[in-house]
Amino acid sequence: MSVFDLDAVKNVLSGNDNARQILMRSEKKTILDINIWLDSKTLIVADAFVVYHNTARGPAKGGIRIDANVTLEETTDLAERMTFKTALTGIPFGGGKSGIRIDSHKLDTYMKRHLIQEFVHTMRADLVSGVYIPAPDMGTTPKEMAVIYGELHIPECVTGKPLGVGGLPGRKEATGRGVAYSAGVAAGKCLKTDIKGLRCAVQGFGNVGSWTCYFLEKMGAKVIAVTDLSGGIYDRKGIDIPALMLHVQKTGGFDGFAGDKITNEELLSFDCDILLPAAREDVLTEKNASKVKAKMVVEAANGPTTKTADKILTDKGVIVIPDILANSGGVIASYIEWRSAKSGVLTSSDEVFEFIDSTIGRSFEKILSLVKDRKMTHKDAALTLATEEVVSAMESRGWI
Ligand code: NAD
Repeated sequence: MSVFDLDAVKNVLSGNDNARQILMRSEKKTILDINIWLDSKTLIVADAFVVYHNTARGPAKGGIRIDANVTLEETTDLAERMTFKTALTGIPFGGGKSGIRIDSHKLDTYMKRHLIQEFVHTMRADLVSGVYIPAPDMGTTPKEMAVIYGELHIPECVTGKPLGVGGLPGRKEATGRGVAYSAGVAAGKCLKTDIKGLRCAVQGFGNVGSWTCYFLEKMGAKVIAVTDLSGGIYDRKGIDIPALMLHVQKTGGFDGFAGDKITNEELLSFDCDILLPAAREDVLTEKNASKVKAKMVVEAANGPTTKTADKILTDKGVIVIPDILANSGGVIASYIEWRSAKSGVLTSSDEVFEFIDSTIGRSFEKILSLVKDRKMTHKDAALTLATEEVVSAMESRGWI
């Protein structure tokens, strides 16, 4: 089953049942046990999943998620999103993802290192041959990518590495940069207004959420509400984002920062112009989509809006900017990091941001022209363009 509404792209897939069949499934799903010894007597066995959805356009690219509830199904959905994200933006990678089922908050630095080392030992052949190129996702950071590099000593085998270990300037900010840029373009093209002064509410204040807020504020938007797993704060005058980032870095949360309290559910229906779910999938559902007051939802996380919620939002006239465009900044930067690692050519963060902006900008133009010509939603247009790319690659390779 596809995580996407493949019926929306039936014009691309019509008469091409083979392509549809391939896209509905994943090329390879691996289920692993990862064993870590806490001490000489205590063994923890974590379930892990590695999925390659489609590699017609290039090696499987996708982050490693460490989460207490991650499943094979969730990992498969995320791998599929990577196939379409890289295709939409023209990045020469396929779709992959890993999930390790263990509560990352319960792991100290030593255990996490041990866990990642074991993951590398199990997946060594694919990592060394470059069939799969991991990156950070929820529960992993550049630190874990440095561990992967340390095990293999192949610079291009992993992206999202720390700066001193072959990492890319601008990589940690890249996804948020792309989300904010997408929101800016969407404000101009879809809401016909400048992003300056628009009121934004952001769910999630991790890597993606915090940098999205940072760039939104830099572009002149007002971030008026933010939450994380434990709830959040709002201030209708606008939150001082750099100060909040420092506060969260020092204290680990929002407690003690100026602003009124708000829950995650309240944030989703908060009175704002742009809602940016930047935490996780399936947060806007048939239960709460009708309560959204924003004019536009920018999918900063992967799959935050369910298929039913999409329909409710579209019927209400809310524009949804799809994740495969909005949060593609991360994989675009990963591509530059991978390319630099292979060529040895260094890049500055300004060049990285410029590449992200222009790549997203080009894809956005194509989406807008399909939306206009074929009266589609932005999500369906993005999926149509991405599917065309993957189908064309499968044809070129003689798969169909
Ligand atoms: P992260 O672990 O750095 O941050 C996640 C944030 O969401 C944290 O603030 C956490 O407290 C909050 N959160 C988690 N569950 C929540 C819930 N149920 N309700 C409210 N808040 C919740 O993760 P991240 O890297 O920022 O990734 C966030 C999303 O963006 C994920 O869907 C991820 O797949 C996607 N994404 C990440 C990148 C990247 O470069 N990191 C790239 C593309 C897409």
